[in-house]
Amino acid sequence: RLVSGESFGENEDQTELSLRPTTLSQYIGQDKIKQEVSVYIQAAKDRQEPLDHVLLYGPPGLGKTTLAGVIANEMGVTFKTTSGPAIEKPGDLVALLNELQPGAILFIDEIHRLPKNVEEILYSAMEDFYIDIIVGQDATAHPVHFPLPPFTLVGATTRAGLLSSPLRARFGIVEHMKYYTDSELAQVVLRSAEVFDSQIDPLGAAEIARRSRGTPRVANRLLKRVRDFAQVAQKKSIDEEIVQYALKLLQVDQQGLDETDRKLLRTMIELYGGGPVGLSTIAANIGEETDTVADMIEPYLMQSGFIKRTARGRMVTPAGYEHLGLRPNEKKN
Ligand code: ADP
Repeated sequence: RLVSGESFGENEDQTELSLRPTTLSQYIGQDKIKQEVSVYIQAAKDRQEPLDHVLLYGPPGLGKTTLAGVIANEMGVTFKTTSGPAIEKPGDLVALLNELQPGAILFIDEIHRLPKNVEEILYSAMEDFYIDIIVGQDATAHPVHFPLPPFTLVGATTRAGLLSSPLRARFGIVEHMKYYTDSELAQVVLRSAEVFDSQIDPLGAAEIARRSRGTPRVANRLLKRVRDFAQVAQKKSIDEEIVQYALKLLQVDQQGLDETDRKLLRTMIELYGGGPVGLSTIAANIGEETDTVADMIEPYLMQSGFIKRTARGRMVTPAGYEHLGLRPNEKKN
């Protein structure tokens, strides 16, 4: 999905790397988090201690990895990234932690997907910078006590509630990443266009921003696509007209919804009278995993006020009907 906040993998990572801000002052939006984090960074630096462990949660593409890198840069320490599913066994974690330079930042994306036995040894690593593990098997098995260099763990997850409470309790700093406003996203687009060396009108940037679902990764991705259309149309500058033309072809509508979002709304209306209907039922009907709906599709539809959560399940709101050109209790022919 063009408009999902998820990364498309290595190719995109390369472009993203060039677009990533490296300092807090370049990092757009998330003002409350920036304000707090800059105080914590200053205090830790003054005490010459590593920063407290940080948990960042929020939908994909909002800048969690970027912020972790910015923090490392501002602290003047090395930055290492990995992800929960990539750490398969306790030994992997020991090797990773052991290689860190003192004070380094270790970023673990999707930290809620760490295997349980890895998570458990992370507790003492985070709290007191040591790990006790059993080495060898059967008769030769014996406990080994590993002291570790002091480090800061920055964990990222889509929902804080996905973490076990002992793990969550070990983060001194917990920050909720918010969707970006249109004007913040327009700044992201203008900045990225500059990095790409592309000309863009303020109105063109504003139009991309409006359709980017509050998500910088989506804004950058739409900018890249629109830039291609502008080039082929021999436009000197990306203007509002070419943005509208390109996004129409790409089936990204005025609110930034794509076919999958509209299909979800339509399914809820046509099959379930607008709800209430359970998440897993919706997912099964549109052929997506329940987690995908919960993490990638539903949050933005809720944020836009097109669906709401009730005790008995999800419901389409009047605004959701209106978006499809329908009135509540009226089915599309
Ligand atoms: P997440 O880790 O939350 O999935 P990323 O940190 O990978 O998100 O961000 C995705 C892309 O969006 C980055 O490559 C970066 O270019 C851009 N981006 C994210 N946050 C910001 C920001 N605050 N200012 C400017 N660009 C940003």
